[in-house]
Formats: sequence, structure tokens, C-alpha cells
Amino acid sequence: MDSRYEAVIGLEVHAQLLTKTKIFCGCSTKFGNEPNSNVCAVCLGHPGVLPVLSRKVVEFSILMGIATNCTINQNSVFARKNYFYPDLPKGYQISQYELPICENGYLEIRKKDGSKKRIGITRIHMEEDAGKSIHDQSSATLVDVNRCGVPLLEIVSEPDIRTQEEAYLYLAKMKQILLYLGICDGNMEEGSLRCDANVSIRSIGSQKLGTKTEIKNLNSFRNVERAIGYEVKRQIEAIEDGEEIIQQTLSWNADLSEAHPLRSKEEAHDYRYFPDPDLIPIVVDDNWNEEIKLIIPELPDLKLEKFINVYSLPFYDADVLTQSADLADYYEKVISITDDFKTASNWVMGEVLGAINEKKISIKDFSVKPENLGKLINLIKNGTISNKIAKEIFPDMINDEKDPEEIIKGNNLVQISDESEITAIILEVLDSNKTQVESYLSGNEKVYGFLVGQIMKKTKGKANPGIVNELLKKELLKEKD
Ligand SMILES: [Zn+2]
Repeated sequence: MDSRYEAVIGLEVHAQLLTKTKIFCGCSTKFGNEPNSNVCAVCLGHPGVLPVLSRKVVEFSILMGIATNCTINQNSVFARKNYFYPDLPKGYQISQYELPICENGYLEIRKKDGSKKRIGITRIHMEEDAGKSIHDQSSATLVDVNRCGVPLLEIVSEPDIRTQEEAYLYLAKMKQILLYLGICDGNMEEGSLRCDANVSIRSIGSQKLGTKTEIKNLNSFRNVERAIGYEVKRQIEAIEDGEEIIQQTLSWNADLSEAHPLRSKEEAHDYRYFPDPDLIPIVVDDNWNEEIKLIIPELPDLKLEKFINVYSLPFYDADVLTQSADLADYYEKVISITDDFKTASNWVMGEVLGAINEKKISIKDFSVKPENLGKLINLIKNGTISNKIAKEIFPDMINDEKDPEEIIKGNNLVQISDESEITAIILEVLDSNKTQVESYLSGNEKVYGFLVGQIMKKTKGKANPGIVNELLKKELLKEKD
């Protein structure tokens, strides 16, 4: 970016809440059902029906508010946002306007260089989703109203974001928190996590905000980054050319990597918000707030700190292992069996993540129970098996879901640590490789590895490598004399 300018970016995130039913009626929220089948008189907006607020939706909002350091407002109200669109049968969307449920929070991002930055959260409010218009089928537009009334949280950031990287990290952190709380599945492709970006630029040092544009349709992390990069560049070029930035809504076209203004009729400037007369104000008293604080799980920042400070893991390991609550959970179960924290981390980051990525499954569906991995690590630690054998039997543990001890006993894989047994094998190897031994003794140290290889081959990899090393050196010294 041109170093004379800086970007001022704010993100609006819409998170679909993982409730079974819609926000104001009992219809299912399931994605992918037959179009227009998850509907009733309430979410279709028939005259005379009354919305009934889902308690779960309020609870999820409070959870998110606490997790992002917000103030939970004791009183908040729903408002009607009025506009006409074919996928909005009521002619208005129930949202929150003047009094949202949560305000004035922040979350912390950690940048590549290790520095931390707080991004302010202006507000979090509850609202219902609209339906879907499907434009690309022949010349007609089809409407599916299954999504009408599906509960959303809108999370609005302060314009604290300065770069694409920061936008990406903010969104990733937001998704991570939503997943830790278990209130949203974070699936951007299915639209359960959506993001709009407000972008403006200004001269470095200026406090005044420039005219902003809003970019919509950012359906992946990658597109959020690319669209912001595109728009910042476009605005700088326009200003350099003496043009004025027009406040407008743009739609990101991922195929063309370009943002285009939305047709003006799709832009409603005045929604005539007013409090919804069918819904009473929401009161969150101290008791309710406290109850929810009790059920809040350990969040990513705390978890990361614990992995670094209590388990003494390097930042890299801690960061990988705490990416999801399920993975962190798996690791913590492994180390409830073994106290070798770093070896456990290596195994989870290496073999376990490798296997689940290859099988494209989630850690929850992984066939090796964390307890069995813990046992396997202990078997390496107490010298029963070598690391090499452990890696060899791990696929069997995946396929047969067996206890590692059973596999080792069943296949006679117990490590040979008996010194006299190993010495006998070493002597055999030295005897049948006289030329190599001569070569080693005359200074060719490379041969050492060959000899170790021969010993391992003879023992089918079962000899304890530490003891082999020690005894082989001893025997070679004797040869020298
Ligand atoms: Zn309904």
C-alpha cells in the first residue's frame, strides 16, 4: 500500500445461531431442506400472528457478549427495519436498533510479528434472517423463505482495522470464539457466517475519516482479504486522480476479483426503524447474567495461555492445538494419561492431525481414543517400544481401534533393552561386516550409521536405540585396542 495513506476498516459479521428453531417461531432452522418447507404463519408474516422470542437466542447473545468483553445491556428492544424485498414476506425485518443487547466490547488479535492488537466491538444485536432469492435459474427469480426468521447475531466492529491481515485475523478470531461457544457452525460457504466490510482511506496522521464504501458478498476469508485489498487500492488511485469517493454499497465478484456497485434500487437508505410493538423489551437481570457466566467454556485466549504456561509448550504448538476446542480437548485428554507434554503435542500435531486431514474427518470422529495415544506415549517413554515401532503401529491403532499394549503383545514388538542380548547381536554384526569395521576404525565415520542399521535390521527395529548406541561405541572401542 502507498505509505502516505492508511486504510480504516470496520467489519460487520453476521453469525447464524445454532438453535434448532427460529427466533420467533417453532420452525426448523435446518439448512438444505426442501425450499419453502420450514415455514409457518409467523415467519411468513401472516396478519394477526404474534412473534414469541426464543430464550436460547438471548442466551447465545449474552454468551457472545461476555466472550467479547461487552457490556450486556439490562434492557434492550427489538425494532422493525422496513424495506420491501421478495424474500422478506413481512415487509420488515425484526432487528435491534437503538438498544442492542451487547455494546462496547473488544477482541484481541495476534499478528504475525507476535504483537497483539485490540479491535473494538461497537455492538452485538439479535435479528432474524431474510429468505433467499435465487437469481441464476433461467430468466425467473425463485424465492425460498426457509431462512426467514432464522436467528442471527450481527457483530459490528469499531473501525480499528488497518490492513487485510488484521481483517483476516479479526474474522478468524471471531469464528474461533463462536465455535468455542458452540453457538454457530462458522460455515461461510453455507452462509452461516457472513461478513461485510466498510472501507475508507485517509492520509497518514489524519484523524478525520474518509468517505467509506461497504463491500458485500464476502463468502470466504480469502475473499475478505482480497476485496479489502482491491477496494483500498481503488480508493487510493481515485484520490490520486483527483476523484471523489462516493459512499456506496459494492458487491464483491470473486470470479472477476472486482467489486461493483449494487443497483441503486437494492440500496435502501432509510429503513424507518421503530420499536416492534409486538415484542416486549428484553430484560437481562444480574441473575441471568451470572447463570450464563457459569456455563461459559474456557475461551481461546485463556486456553492458549494455559498451554504455554502450564504445559510449557512453545507458542507454535499451543496455537495449533487450541485452534478448536475439540482439538484442545483431545490433547488435554492425552496428557491426562502421560505427563510428557511435548511428545504428546508432537504426536497430536503430527500423526493425529495428519490422519484426520487425510481422512477429511473431524477430531471428534477420530478412531484413536486420546487415552490410547497417551498409553502409546508412555510405552515409548518407559522403553517398552521405540519411537519407530510406535509410528509403525499407529496405523493399526487407527484401523483396529485397539489398545497399543494389545497390538504390541500380539505382534511381539516389545523393545529389546537387555544389554547382553543386544551385545550378542552387535558382535554378530561386527563379525560379518569386517571391512566396514576396518573402514570405521580408519576414520570413516559414515559407516557408523550403516552398522546401526544392520543391528536394527537384525532385531526388526526392536532394539532400544539408546542402548544400541552406547554398546556399539563400547564394542568398537574394544576393536580399536
Ligand atoms: Zn415459522
